[in-house]
Amino acid sequence: MTDPRFAGIGMTSARTRDRLVQRLRDQGIANLAVLDRIRNLPRHIFVDEALASRAYEDTALPIGFGQTISQPYIVARMTEALLEGPPLRKVLEVGTGCGYQSAVLAPLVERIYSIERISGLLERAKERLKELGVRNVRFKLGDGSEGWKSMAPFDGIIVAAAALTVPEELLAQLEVNGRLIVPAGTEGQQQLLRIVRREQGYERRVLGPVSFVPLVGGVG
Ligand code: SAH
Repeated sequence: MTDPRFAGIGMTSARTRDRLVQRLRDQGIANLAVLDRIRNLPRHIFVDEALASRAYEDTALPIGFGQTISQPYIVARMTEALLEGPPLRKVLEVGTGCGYQSAVLAPLVERIYSIERISGLLERAKERLKELGVRNVRFKLGDGSEGWKSMAPFDGIIVAAAALTVPEELLAQLEVNGRLIVPAGTEGQQQLLRIVRREQGYERRVLGPVSFVPLVGGVG
């Protein structure tokens, strides 16, 4: 990361990032690899320049096409919940968006397969990750609620948009003992779930209330 834009100045400086990481710790994020990655990864390059000074606030921000970059706390919480357990080799991500979640997760797993339905977002995310030197993410334009069948099964799946109920295909593409982190429910009533596939059925744990954009069918 030698690009001077990545270092940041003023409101995007290392000190501002440290404050964000401290805040995440105070809110209960304990995984040091996750905290470290968030400290070292510039979030300001994932948002419009006009919003760069707000990139280290713990808040969602617009990324165009009516979508948002997730709140850092949510990215940290989901990443931590996904990593809990044996090391992950193959992770499916639904909802690439600006690519921030993929970039946080990339050095912590072997390989990511990331699906986004809006091509404008996908293309920008690809460019950013390339600039950052992230090379273990494969992207696809498509409807992530159908998963990525040719690459299945996955030992981890992480979903950044909420459906009323958890898509069947995602459950089906989960390996035995694999885990799925997914928001589900109606607007205003969504819960973040951690689902683990067992030999016989699925174990569910509710991680808490969340607010995600809807999981939309088809490619837009
Ligand atoms: N992971 C992003 C969050 C993006 S917001 C981050 O790091 O900030 C959720 C994204 O899910 C949006 O970009 C939206 O277009 C996408 N999305 C919604 N429904 C989808 C679907 N069925 N398949 C793939 N992507 C979807």
